[in-house]
Amino acid sequence: MKELIVISGKGGTGKTSLTAAFCHLASKLAHGCVCADCDVDAADLHLILSPEVEQSQTFTSGHEATIRQEDCTACGLCKEYCTFDAIIQEQDGTFRVDPYACEGCKVCVEFCPVQAIDFPSAECGIWNISTTRFGKMVHARLHIGAENSGKLVSLVRQQAREIAAQQGAKLVIVDGPPGIGCPVIASITGADAVLIVTEPSVSGLHDFERVAQLCRHFNIPAYLCINKYDINPAQGDAISTLAEQRNIPTLARINHDHAFTAAQIERKTITEYLRTDAADSATSQVRALWETLSQHLNA
Ligand code: SF4
Ligand code: SF4
Repeated sequence: MKELIVISGKGGTGKTSLTAAFCHLASKLAHGCVCADCDVDAADLHLILSPEVEQSQTFTSGHEATIRQEDCTACGLCKEYCTFDAIIQEQDGTFRVDPYACEGCKVCVEFCPVQAIDFPSAECGIWNISTTRFGKMVHARLHIGAENSGKLVSLVRQQAREIAAQQGAKLVIVDGPPGIGCPVIASITGADAVLIVTEPSVSGLHDFERVAQLCRHFNIPAYLCINKYDINPAQGDAISTLAEQRNIPTLARINHDHAFTAAQIERKTITEYLRTDAADSATSQVRALWETLSQHLNA
């Protein structure tokens, strides 16, 4: 089984549109493919794939302090000891924990003289196993302000691989998070290939350089796709040259096409929406990219 991760240095490069199109094209493989959305802070692959949720589970990570008002004597010791300023004294004199500030260090729990502080597991998000028109999909959403997205990303990848193994699918396609932080590292480590999607701009070049370094550091084969290439071919070529110096092949230069947005509005992939054989059409370019990627992946 192979695992392809689609990432970008920042959001808005067209990463998810391409991932969705790959899921469409890969669904025609023997035993299909499994799709996963690891952009858990801002998941949006579901907007195109329209999953029907079969199983949903909460994601817990770490702990969170909560004060039982009926047992609290309002001595204020917890507020004094909390170095994260997570304990608030209300105007009426009662104490409560700010869940967004609590780091789960447990100091207040240990020092409360009347054991009035509970320390339950913190619910940080949900993850789902769903069915789509292209096969199974694993996706998740982190709650607002919740942490440990890297752990949730690892969970989503693991579930997707398990489902692929069960159904005999040879490919898992992952919509990765943008940037170079913990969730991205969690999404690419151990993958078979990474497709970096970038735009032909100065910031696109900078972002590409950062994610390219990340892939090199983790020794993961990386490929480049320059989206909206015709907006600024000179800048696109500069990114391509940099990629060549980093031993990252440029697999596609896709032209800007409003059909991508029109397809999204209809909740379709570009390959479903725009059915044409014209060589310069967005559909043909995405299909050609997929063919090349498949060969590299041996999928
Ligand atoms: S668990 Fe730690 S961070 Fe949270 S309220 Fe208690 S002392 Fe503060
Ligand atoms: S240390 Fe315990 S009793 Fe004192 S204010 Fe905090 S929760 Fe209440």
